[in-house]
Amino acid sequence: MPKYHSTLSRREFLKALGIGAAGVGAASLGMAVPNLVEPVHDLDELASSTLAVPNRPSYVKEVDKPTVEVDWSVMSRFDYHNVMWAAGLQKALGKTQFDLVNAAQQGNRLLRLKQNKPGYTLRDDAFVNAFYGAPSSYLPPTTNSTPADLGVPVYQDTPENNARMVRAFLRFHGAAQVGFMELDTNTTEKLIYSYDTGVGQAQGPKITIADVDQPSETKEERIMPKKARWVIIYTIRMADELMRRAPTEFVVGPTNLGYNLKSIIQGQLQLFLRGLGYMGLGEASPYNDLGSKVGMGIMAGLGEHSRAMHIITPEYGLRQRLFALVTDLPLAPGKPVDFGVMRFCRVCKKCSDICPPKAINGETEPSWNILGDYNQQGIKSWHRIEPNCLSYIRQSGSSQGCILCFAVCPLSKGKNESIYQSLIKRTIATTPTFDRAIRKMDDYLGYGQRSDPDTFWDMDLPPFGWD
Ligand code: SF4
Ligand code: SF4
Repeated sequence: MPKYHSTLSRREFLKALGIGAAGVGAASLGMAVPNLVEPVHDLDELASSTLAVPNRPSYVKEVDKPTVEVDWSVMSRFDYHNVMWAAGLQKALGKTQFDLVNAAQQGNRLLRLKQNKPGYTLRDDAFVNAFYGAPSSYLPPTTNSTPADLGVPVYQDTPENNARMVRAFLRFHGAAQVGFMELDTNTTEKLIYSYDTGVGQAQGPKITIADVDQPSETKEERIMPKKARWVIIYTIRMADELMRRAPTEFVVGPTNLGYNLKSIIQGQLQLFLRGLGYMGLGEASPYNDLGSKVGMGIMAGLGEHSRAMHIITPEYGLRQRLFALVTDLPLAPGKPVDFGVMRFCRVCKKCSDICPPKAINGETEPSWNILGDYNQQGIKSWHRIEPNCLSYIRQSGSSQGCILCFAVCPLSKGKNESIYQSLIKRTIATTPTFDRAIRKMDDYLGYGQRSDPDTFWDMDLPPFGWD
């Protein structure tokens, strides 16, 4: 029987962390436990905090540089054509092997359908294939009035107030977290793709940043005006219950629901900005466009880089999708944050241990060395063997899903584990000596184990499956 919610008491948990009976007693009496107290923040520090990531726990510190090392002098703008989901897999495997992988995908899909295998039944297959087709566009829709149409001046306020306004708008429309990044020619501009997402394996349009007044696009090129210097990064949560069914067809749901919601939210944000007199340049496909959302999210202070090569946020761990929109509305940018993730990933390695095709690097220290065109240069990371990941996903018979790494990460637990999560995150941020014990505790508690796929259809889920 899969086990998720442990009956382990807080006393046992603290004991296992090595805090012992005295610490337990002090904690239960509300007294400060050595090494678990929150860092002190003075009023100046609070007043100087940017608006990018408000209401964070005090163990999340703003820092001047991201915790993942970046060499901007080595980095250049990445061609999306090289990622696995575009043409990267065929490039890495060669056409013959690529065709075999795809044939295995369809063969395994049909085999499992006929076997009525839980997680891959006709009902589950129909569930997945209902996600595709929501519209998205680079240039904004033009269905509303601009200030010029109305004969009034464009909206103007401070970058700080603009950031507050955009966050309020996006939260109302369903975004979980909202951050802001300023484009700088020598650094963060390199997070915009050189070539955008194409259709299928075709190379997408070139993205040219040019000194022009208005954006434009053809099949071959998207023009981004240099005056559009701000990026809005927002996240949409992923449903915990479906991720517990990794790696079946169900795990496509949390990802693709995010993509579909993005298509609606993005169009509304583009119209909102247009109504204020500003441009909103969106992601043209329902999937991943414009630039490295993980890099942007890190620079905006939404979270830290991780071994799994995705962003880990204090709020949801790995369980969110990131989206971006470029605008000329001035916005107060956020700063990178440090809450101990890069350090914890050195010790934890759970995603690497669990990854079926061993795509996730298990070395203790991150490295500047990349493994292929599909990795971004200039980042000191645990670069993933991307072809292993997508080949595994395809051959496993699922259309797009695995995300076991997301599901097992000790920092990616849902609401039901929130007391432990809060304690663990505080401990990781302040007391690295407990990192190894926390990984062991996560295994012991059985977190990250899988649920029976069929139980999904009998559940009374919260909206969007977000618990
Ligand atoms: S999605 Fe699955 S195969 Fe890919 S890196 Fe994560 S655990 Fe490994
Ligand atoms: S599972 Fe562990 S090593 Fe992997 S991303 Fe999560 S915290 Fe880092």
